[in-house]
Amino acid sequence: MIEQYISKSIKCKCGKVHKSRVESIEINDNAIDTDLIAFLKANKYRSLTVVCDKNGYKAAGKMVCGTLEKTDIQYKLHLFHNDFLAPDEYAIGNLAMGIFGESDIIVAVGSGTVNDVCRYVSAVAGKEFCTVGTAPSMDGYISGSSALIYNNLKLTFETHPPKAVFFEPTILANAPRNMISSGVGDLLGKINCLCDWKLSNIINGEWYCDFISGIVSDAVWKTIDCCDGLIRGDSESAAVLLEALLLSGVCMDFAGNSRPASGCEHHISHFWEMRFLLEGRKAVFHGTKVGIGTVIALKAYEYVSALNPDFKAIRNKPRMSFDEWENNVHKAFLGASNEIIELEKKSGKNDIEKLDTRLSVIEENWDKIKALASDAAKPEIISSILKRLKAPITPAEIGVEKELAKQAIIYAKEIRDRYTVLQLLWDLGELDSFAETVVNEYYKMY
Ligand SMILES: [Zn+2]
Ligand SMILES: [Zn+2]
Repeated sequence: MIEQYISKSIKCKCGKVHKSRVESIEINDNAIDTDLIAFLKANKYRSLTVVCDKNGYKAAGKMVCGTLEKTDIQYKLHLFHNDFLAPDEYAIGNLAMGIFGESDIIVAVGSGTVNDVCRYVSAVAGKEFCTVGTAPSMDGYISGSSALIYNNLKLTFETHPPKAVFFEPTILANAPRNMISSGVGDLLGKINCLCDWKLSNIINGEWYCDFISGIVSDAVWKTIDCCDGLIRGDSESAAVLLEALLLSGVCMDFAGNSRPASGCEHHISHFWEMRFLLEGRKAVFHGTKVGIGTVIALKAYEYVSALNPDFKAIRNKPRMSFDEWENNVHKAFLGASNEIIELEKKSGKNDIEKLDTRLSVIEENWDKIKALASDAAKPEIISSILKRLKAPITPAEIGVEKELAKQAIIYAKEIRDRYTVLQLLWDLGELDSFAETVVNEYYKMY
């Protein structure tokens, strides 16, 4: 299914030409001993560095090295010995020093972290890179950017996509259960983000593409149908999940941004990630947080579908001053608050004049918005899938306290200048009350 979308240009009804940058995607049980070797030989790579951490080595690194031994291709293994590898200055520096002057291609063997590190170092060093993936845990394998921790902040750096990616379904199916459920969580997030994208199209006239949205949506529902197989750990289902995650990456390339893959469920996840990092807490898988954020975001659509707004009263409602907002942002974002304030100064998404303009559009299109909200998947659908996969459903299950959950719902929208259902609730003067309702429901037992 995915082959039809790569290495070609698609002239779309939306007016854009969609193109994916990745040249080759191989998902089969001979991906390492046949396809990877054929790719290295065809491109005449003579010396390479295989990069992995201890888990990646066990999962596929050992097999990659064993296969290379049987060829005349020179390679060096760069093994991270850390028990927990973070994509930070240490990992970047360590790899950069390890490959200095050598290798014409870097082969990343692993999942999120190892790929982010290899993507960045290879781009800075002017080298090619390709990936042997070990877990269907996130949708970033073919991404052209690296999410890295710099001075305790998670930042995105524009780098380059891998030239080719290789996956063996048996290796994917053997990945730890919580990595597979993280991949499902990241994928379930698309159900919300496609609604957020459509919402922004209605309210802000943002470009929207039915073709891209359809590809993502089909891939998500096809994976949901494989839920039993994922629970059993069968390799066909792991391959379906991986292909859906890769398609989401292809669609980001098609769109030229992350709109088809990331909405406010991701902003909620980023908010907790940032706070955990600043407070020195143990990291939680990206997709695990996204899954929890998706349940909250779909509760927001459900909340919107029940509203009958009095637009005159909304326009007269007193709004928080910039100073008061700034003060709250310092409390919510701690050491990362200055960037958030700068972003708001540039985007002005909370400006009263811009709000007034949006409110007129919202009032005019209320029926459309209400229909979008009513048609959105119910949050219980997402929670029941996560529950079957034994993945966390509520913020408390990943150690997020009531106040941190509430702050995420109210302030996650400040992380990006991207219209979502959380901004709609703010526009309608309902965001605080929605946050209150959700956290009271989640933390009633505490
Ligand atoms: Zn299109
Ligand atoms: Zn994601």
